[in-house]
Amino acid sequence: MSIEELARANVRALTPYQSARRLGGNGDVWLNANEYPTAVEFELTQQTLNRYPECQPKLVIERYAEYAGVKPEQVLVSRGADEGIELLIRAFCEPGKDAVLYCPPTYGMYSVSSEAFNVECRTVPTLENWQLDLSGIAEQIEGVKVIYVCSPNNPTGQLINPQDFRVLLEMARGKALVVADEAYIEFCPQATLTGWLEEYPHLVVLRTLSKAFALAGLRCGFTIAAEEVINLLMKVIAPYPLSTPVADIAAQALSPQGINAMRERVAEVLLIRQYLIAGLRETACVEQVFDSETNYVLARITASSAVFKSLWDRGIILRDQNKQPSLSGCLRITVGTRTECERALTALRQQPGLTATEAV
Ligand code: PMP
Repeated sequence: MSIEELARANVRALTPYQSARRLGGNGDVWLNANEYPTAVEFELTQQTLNRYPECQPKLVIERYAEYAGVKPEQVLVSRGADEGIELLIRAFCEPGKDAVLYCPPTYGMYSVSSEAFNVECRTVPTLENWQLDLSGIAEQIEGVKVIYVCSPNNPTGQLINPQDFRVLLEMARGKALVVADEAYIEFCPQATLTGWLEEYPHLVVLRTLSKAFALAGLRCGFTIAAEEVINLLMKVIAPYPLSTPVADIAAQALSPQGINAMRERVAEVLLIRQYLIAGLRETACVEQVFDSETNYVLARITASSAVFKSLWDRGIILRDQNKQPSLSGCLRITVGTRTECERALTALRQQPGLTATEAV
């Protein structure tokens, strides 16, 4: 048997997540991974690398719990929110029996993680306005154990209606976990669902330091849920999920000064986002710009693949969303520095728009 044939069938069939980094590119303007555009400096204070780290570093957990307004027992820290997505499947879904449900267009890791564990993946596409198709979900919910809902949603940028979340939570009670992926919540903090955790023991909230905290390279994320859920996830997490330097820097990022600095960055990103959206609305090749509650903007663009390639060749790397259901012609642009947004706008303005006859 070849090595390939030795591998599990579902792994052979798997298309790995096409992360911005894996897609490559030779850019100097990186607007494709929803990162913060400049690096924040930290110093390592822990030098005890001869010792194993704590599994759940106490200071990080306490500070995150305080920041999120929950009890420390309700918080799990992991290697990015991506590990949280995976731990939920490992703890709750029986391969070949249970299913995961999500609503495209949305974040790609829900399907990649379930496929890697040979767990059935059910999709219920969103309505035309990118809100949940609740009756479609009701038809598909039998046998589903975990429902992922990204809000604000990547890549569309808008919030899911809270009322729809309530209907979904009632529908799933006693059957499935409802996971609100709040990776971008710092850009619209009033919309968090953490205040509902008391009411819904099957609600799970995912968070990350990768976006507003400007620490995508750190790989640190959080799962917030009822203590009972956290205890189950603790059974399947690796013995030392975070290295000592990661815990050290995460604790600093979550100090009162760290949180203030994060809020200042958010205010700045929101201003630049306004500038980017206004600029896109005055660009010939841009047909539609969607409202955003996040640090990226989705736009429908004439001849989007050619435009994507043209900017790519000039070192301006955007994210092509053309393949996602209902997103034909759409590119996602991360809010970079003002200069980076200017460069992207200038390059976009050199692209042809629709001719008068095509536009009708
Ligand atoms: N959820 C969503 C919606 C995301 O966009 C991302 C980042 N690409 C993640 C989760 C994963 O975040 P992390 O970097 O913490 O693994």
